[in-house]
Amino acid sequence: MSFENYKYVVVGSGFFGAVVAERLAYDFGKPVLVLEKRNHVGGNCHSVDHAETGIHYHIYGTHIFHTSDREVWEYINKFTDFNGYHHQVLTTHRDKVYQMPINLETINSYYGLNLRPFEVSTFIAEEVGKTGITNPRNFEEKAVSMVGRPLYEAFIKGYTTKQWGCPPDQLPATLLQRLPFRTSYDENYFFDPWQGIPLLGYSSIFDKLLNNPKIRVELNTDFFSIQHELAGDACVVYTGPLDKLFDYRHGHLEWRSLSFEEEVLDVQDYQGTSVMNYADENVPYTRIHEPRHLHPEKDYTESQTLTIKEYSRQGSSDDPYYPVGGDRNRAILEKYLIDVSRNNNLFVGGRLGDYKYYDMDQTIAVALRTYKQIRDRTQNEPKPR
Ligand SMILES: Cc1cc2nc3c(=O)[nH]c(=O)nc-3n(C[C@H](O)[C@H](O)[C@H](O)COP(=O)(O)OP(=O)(O)OC[C@H]3O[C@@H](n4cnc5c(N)ncnc54)[C@H](O)[C@@H]3O)c2cc1C
Repeated sequence: MSFENYKYVVVGSGFFGAVVAERLAYDFGKPVLVLEKRNHVGGNCHSVDHAETGIHYHIYGTHIFHTSDREVWEYINKFTDFNGYHHQVLTTHRDKVYQMPINLETINSYYGLNLRPFEVSTFIAEEVGKTGITNPRNFEEKAVSMVGRPLYEAFIKGYTTKQWGCPPDQLPATLLQRLPFRTSYDENYFFDPWQGIPLLGYSSIFDKLLNNPKIRVELNTDFFSIQHELAGDACVVYTGPLDKLFDYRHGHLEWRSLSFEEEVLDVQDYQGTSVMNYADENVPYTRIHEPRHLHPEKDYTESQTLTIKEYSRQGSSDDPYYPVGGDRNRAILEKYLIDVSRNNNLFVGGRLGDYKYYDMDQTIAVALRTYKQIRDRTQNEPKPR
């Protein structure tokens, strides 16, 4: 079947594209063409067995599934079982390890105190009072006005500088919505009732989502190279960068990006946890991932372990990870969204299309909603584009 016979074309096979394609094929019974420019499906959730150690890992950064959305949980469980992994984050500051987000252990350990939970709020309020900041003008002042200067300097300043590539006093206060600190020793990173890592990895989910005779997946195929071969009245679900879709006519949306450096070490367990943050600015990486800890149920017997250093850097729509946001980008985004709304047969979504950070469960929730819109709008023959 040539490309022009497909009335439904999904661009991108990450969670957004794969879920829409699955629903279109399975629920709506339509043939779907999925175009993926990479050599694998799954977008940034792609996972593989590491060639040397056999340890299963996520090549675009550690992904922990967590949700409070029952519909999403029931949907995803049709395609995988999860292990019982619960995420915990630790951070290293001046060669000492602390719990994150800041909790009672972090505070007591950092200050050398033995505060009780009911004493924490007063203690933090006193620390904040010493700063004299009442009307924070930037990220630094806002963070300091939430936890006080010592905790900010130790755990937030260096990490944020590395993450955003500029000192926090030059970042807008709006970037920081909240800075959670816990008055207990609770070290769970997420509070969602459903959490875990897919037992067979994320890639097995995508294989199942797309395993339908009505779905044709074309890897190594960039939408922009074959766009002219598609039917003029095809309904296109685009999950790539939004500015690229319109040839950047309103300007480029800004992205932060990541680089990863893999290393195999001759020890069974390097850091005792799956993700260790590095809070200090003089350490060039932001985190070290050790994926063997994501699968406590697996019997990894090798005496070696895989570690992955994560570096934050400026990105572009060629390697986008985190939307930068802010007034300038929001204004550009608005213009592109108007362009999208003018085209009845075009649906845009996902983290790149919506220029929004979505967790996986949010991506799936929006994809399920978008599928229903597509189905409702195209019940009859799609209108010409
Ligand atoms: C470092 C990092 C860690 C994360 N950790 C977590 C976590 O722990 N838990 C969690 O819930 N979420 C996490 N997320 C979020 C998660 O990655 C996203 O929710 C999810 O990947 C979004 O899926 P998507 O389909 O929108 O985008 P993507 O996964 O990026 O998929 C888009 C796909 O479109 C393809 N594409 C783009 N343009 C074209 C084109 N022109 N032609 C053909 N194909 C194209 C791309 O190659 C890609 O495969 C993390 C994100 C990052 C960046």
